[in-house]
Amino acid sequence: MTTAPPRTGTALTIRGLRRTFGPTVALDGLDLDVAPGELLALLGPSGCGKTTALRVLAGFERPDAGEVLLDGEDIVPVPANRRDTGMVFQSYSLFPHLSAADNVAFGMRMRKVPAAQRRSRAAELLELVGLPEHGGRFPHQLSGGQQQRVALARALALQPRLLLLDEPLSALDAKVRVQLREEIRRLQLELGITTVFVTHDQEEALSMADKVAVMRGGRLEQCAAPAELYDRPATAFVASFIGTMNRIPGTVASDGLAEVLGVRLPVDGPATGSVFLLRPEALEVTEGGPDTVLSSAFHGANTRLAVRLADGTEVKADLPSHAAGSFGAGARVTVVPQRRPVLAAGEAA
Ligand code: ATP
Repeated sequence: MTTAPPRTGTALTIRGLRRTFGPTVALDGLDLDVAPGELLALLGPSGCGKTTALRVLAGFERPDAGEVLLDGEDIVPVPANRRDTGMVFQSYSLFPHLSAADNVAFGMRMRKVPAAQRRSRAAELLELVGLPEHGGRFPHQLSGGQQQRVALARALALQPRLLLLDEPLSALDAKVRVQLREEIRRLQLELGITTVFVTHDQEEALSMADKVAVMRGGRLEQCAAPAELYDRPATAFVASFIGTMNRIPGTVASDGLAEVLGVRLPVDGPATGSVFLLRPEALEVTEGGPDTVLSSAFHGANTRLAVRLADGTEVKADLPSHAAGSFGAGARVTVVPQRRPVLAAGEAA
């Protein structure tokens, strides 16, 4: 798709959301803003409150405090079936005794949409999710990926204002997962529907979302566009949670430059502390020297080396695979940072 997405969706605002289960604080004052038509991914370690947040949005869980505003209207008091939200779950949640078309039409039947209209809308939606020929099949006659497509069509059938996706791809094999995530994203952009997507998979979140909200302990740690989250993590937690980050000792000179592994580098943000954060792709490795390769892992275009520096610090360095041939375990090398700005760990602490 080359055209800009139609941003016609609904604005979602979450303010001070709190939900406890006995002594467990699942949501501890969560604030979020999702612009109309945006796809927001909720990412964070197990137990950080992602699913609870999504269930509160869907109306399956009532918060102890806080607001969920759709275009400025608080929907917390509105029951789940009146919320105008469509949801796709992790496990296939289709009704097993209904055909794909009847699954898609189910909500319309509940709303007493006339049969002919239901049928044509279900056919239209199945076409939209790439299953025009599968309306007569029952869930057990569909693959996992096809079932999730039907679940998506069902979630979209009533033209919800908000689409909620709860790890919809995690039960699928890697190849189908990547294919379906591209399709979901394309469809979401086409429809301009405001979407909240819960996932464990950071690659999924970073590749699909307009913005990624990293949660920790029921609170928001940082919400930003994927590239910003990767390049400018606001906290040490985000820095280590998103991608791989090396923590390398260094010093700050009186001119404000950092000296890391013998190279003077500008510092992005306040130049304080004695540890600097560098991504594996920001390190260069040359043959011979005081550092030792511990292992080498081939990842297609790149190879990731684990290297023990002379001071004992272990780092990861990525190099193009065609240049990594001579760096097997035990090789003596020199690791140096590329001349780009670095972050001080102090800033992200
Ligand atoms: P995961 O990635 O493992 O699915 P999550 O980020 O989605 O985790 P939640 O499922 O929202 O996390 O859970 C947040 C916290 O609330 C956890 O400590 C969990 O044990 C607790 N919790 C969630 N639901 C309930 C419940 N119904 N009863 C008691 N505790 C609950």
